[in-house]
Amino acid sequence: MKKTRQLSAVKYSRISMPVTLVLLDLCFLAAHVFFLIFFRIQGVPEMFCFNFFSIAVYAGMLPCIVKAPDHVLLFSTVTMLEVLAHAGAATLFIGWPSGFPLFIICCAPFPFFLPYKRDIVAYLAELLIMAEFIALRIITASADGVVYTDLPDSTLRRLFMYNGIVSFWMIIVFSTIYKRSKQFDRLKLKAKNESLSMLAKIDPLSQLFNRRAMVDFLKQIEQHAKESGVEYALAMADLDDFKHVNDTYGHSAGDTVITAIAGIMTEEVPSEGYVCRWGGEELLFAVPEAGADKGREIAERIRKRLSERSFTSAEGEEFSVTITFGVCGCDGSIPYERYLSIADKYLYYGKKLGKNRVVCESDYLPEE
Ligand code: GH3
Ligand code: MG
Ligand code: MG
Repeated sequence: MKKTRQLSAVKYSRISMPVTLVLLDLCFLAAHVFFLIFFRIQGVPEMFCFNFFSIAVYAGMLPCIVKAPDHVLLFSTVTMLEVLAHAGAATLFIGWPSGFPLFIICCAPFPFFLPYKRDIVAYLAELLIMAEFIALRIITASADGVVYTDLPDSTLRRLFMYNGIVSFWMIIVFSTIYKRSKQFDRLKLKAKNESLSMLAKIDPLSQLFNRRAMVDFLKQIEQHAKESGVEYALAMADLDDFKHVNDTYGHSAGDTVITAIAGIMTEEVPSEGYVCRWGGEELLFAVPEAGADKGREIAERIRKRLSERSFTSAEGEEFSVTITFGVCGCDGSIPYERYLSIADKYLYYGKKLGKNRVVCESDYLPEE
């Protein structure tokens, strides 16, 4: 059976999301260390203390992010609340021209980015953000509303530039995370769909393709043979005296045999070929760009390996099982269904001849 495609969406999101969150947390922490020093130098003790608190929040969040990176919503909400509180307090203490209100505006889109269970939460958060922005503007409109009015204009201008750049950085980073999280979701969904459709194609006992999947592959192989003019090999196989195996050694011993022959066929059929459990104890393989001779070779190797293998029943009895093949080379001149019945005809001819053999066109002598 062809190998299933590696699905990496889940792995990808698990690796990158925690790393992204840790880096972001460290950036916020660094920004507050800067503010801590800034407010200490400017003599604003309240904001100096506030920044101790902010640093503690981001430092405390680090181990939580490492332990439980899936709580993106919680970390994002805490970050957003901290930014809004810090920006509000800083505006009240040193005034509107400091540029701290920019952080409030740049927080505005984030409630819509976050996956709150109810949409109303985002709209309510938006109202509160807007209310904070307007209230601050009204309060700080006169000098009485600002606690420290003696900061030099040049310092405020530089601070405005710094806060403006950090605000843009926040918008770019959060928008990128949002875009990437959407990509993760799409990849996860795609991976889930792929694994579901793969499951629908696989026989649970043998882990081979089932009949429905094989019909699709046969149509593709047939089309390829028609277009390229190169034959494909088709082999129908049936375990010999399998009813006897079940009756004598038990049904689960029979299941073990089916699993074993599936493993042998998977190993022996080349990777460009397909193996399927056609039904019950009947198996089928098809190999593109291979004639009857190549099909016979593969079938012969499978037959030999199975016949040499020994099985043990639940009661400890040893037994072996054989298999018979009907193989034909198909050039696509007739539909694959007809080739299937030809392979079947050779297979049952093999059963009549005594089983445990591979029958091709050259071995087949039609009855008079
Ligand atoms: P022949 O050599 O002519 O093919 O004889 P046979 O006994 O193999 O053929 P028959 O059609 O009489 O019996 C097939 C048996 O395969 C009967 C059925 O119980 C068994 N079988 C089909 N599917 C499974 C399965 O999934 N597990 C087990 N253990 N047995 C199965
Ligand atoms: Mg059968
Ligand atoms: Mg059989």
